[in-house]
Amino acid sequence: MEITWNLEHTYQKLPEALFSTIHPIPVKAPQLVLFNQNLAKELGLALESLDTDTMSAIFSGNQMPKDAQPLAQAYAGHQFGNFTMLGDGRAILLGEQITPKGERYDIQLKGSGRTPYSRGGDGRAHLSAMLREYLISEAMHHLGIPTSRSLAVVITGEPVYREKVRHGAILTRVASSHIRVGTFEYARNFHEGKYLKDLLQYSTARHYPELDESENPALAFFEAVMVKQIELIIQWMRVGFIHGVMNTDNMSIPGETIDYGPCAFMNAYDPMTVFSSIDTQGRYAYGNQPFIAHWNLGCLGSALLPAIAPKTEDAVELAKASINQFPKAYESLWLEMMGRKLGITEVKPSDKALVDDLLHWMKKNKTDFTNTFLYLRRNAFPQDSIYQEADFKAWLQLWQERIAGNRSKAQELMDQNNPAFIPRNHWVEEALEAASKDGNMLLFQELLTLLQDPYTDKPGFEKFQEVPVEVDKGYQTFCGT
Ligand code: AMP
Ligand code: MG
Repeated sequence: MEITWNLEHTYQKLPEALFSTIHPIPVKAPQLVLFNQNLAKELGLALESLDTDTMSAIFSGNQMPKDAQPLAQAYAGHQFGNFTMLGDGRAILLGEQITPKGERYDIQLKGSGRTPYSRGGDGRAHLSAMLREYLISEAMHHLGIPTSRSLAVVITGEPVYREKVRHGAILTRVASSHIRVGTFEYARNFHEGKYLKDLLQYSTARHYPELDESENPALAFFEAVMVKQIELIIQWMRVGFIHGVMNTDNMSIPGETIDYGPCAFMNAYDPMTVFSSIDTQGRYAYGNQPFIAHWNLGCLGSALLPAIAPKTEDAVELAKASINQFPKAYESLWLEMMGRKLGITEVKPSDKALVDDLLHWMKKNKTDFTNTFLYLRRNAFPQDSIYQEADFKAWLQLWQERIAGNRSKAQELMDQNNPAFIPRNHWVEEALEAASKDGNMLLFQELLTLLQDPYTDKPGFEKFQEVPVEVDKGYQTFCGT
């Protein structure tokens, strides 16, 4: 049965050097394992009447919607600081879906076979990594954090060979676009930089149309991306999210969380927390994320230089003046965010000490990040615990005095900013293990449902809030390639 979506293909109007047209490579026995009905509805995808075989064929790339024009995007990037050519080595864009509300979203298959950018890779993905991306990206969305979304997962019926044999799988990912800092680095550093202005014009029109009239559109674009990134990182810091591989190719121009690989959530508060097996130096540790975002924006700034001013020295001066605003802007928005977590409506500079004292105490005592704020939100603390000791009680008193003026507004802010549930690493692993080993999706579905409503503090689900002692010892996440 043929289907037609509402796809447009504006990216294909860009110079051909920026992409390669290519079809997904068919798979042997596709089988749909997850489908996001609500997202499909928001996208306006007519799928209700389709049988499972057609759905499996479509979300594996074996069958294309009639209006798809598949392509792989070219990009470069700094990976752990080293510049390299990359590109969609295992992903294919079907097109840009125009939703019933008139919004534009990329629909992309991830794990759909080799492309001209695959280098030594097989172009495939494995089930556990795709389920992980589905669960965590949906959790992030429901936490209110800008992110790519997950529409479907199919298993391919083919093995993929990693450190062991695994089930092949394909994820359908939806994003405002897949334009990255690395796309600009590619446009600037390849083909004599000929296509930089095309990409800039396209990205401005698509994501920052209000900047069209700016005096210096390239500089205005740079600053707008910077603001979006600061806002995004602050959201990650709010919930203890560690992206794990913040290479410039994984940093999205519209400011969404993309490329879920070795990401994880922090349990015990420690800015140096890092779980990724390949991040041996802690480059992408929780507390380093703002510094890395700043560094990555430096890469975007340098890619944009020829568009900012004709003379390099002038362009450098202008870009520097913009990027130097990052630390201050980040600090003040971070303090506002932490203020909201503590129920403070209007933060004052003096609140910094209150926040810092709490974080210092949390680090010293290795308290759980999410649960500490949840206890504050509940204003109830476990008996016979560290929360009953004098130093915490002293802090508590200062804090209570600070919010005493408007307790109900404080409660509202805390309820909105401190999740009761996050995807706890040990539960995520258990759910993925059951799903990929014996196809048992029950725990996965239970977690997914719970994480669709993460701010409601529901009784009966305490086991998803508890953290076993020493749970993170030796916990490692992998890139999922
Ligand atoms: P990632 O770590 O997912 O951000 O990917 C980094 C780069 O490696 C991108 O260019 C990917 O397309 C490419 N890549 C990752 N996994 C594979 C794979 N299995 N086959 C081919 N290319 C891959
Ligand atoms: Mg990537």
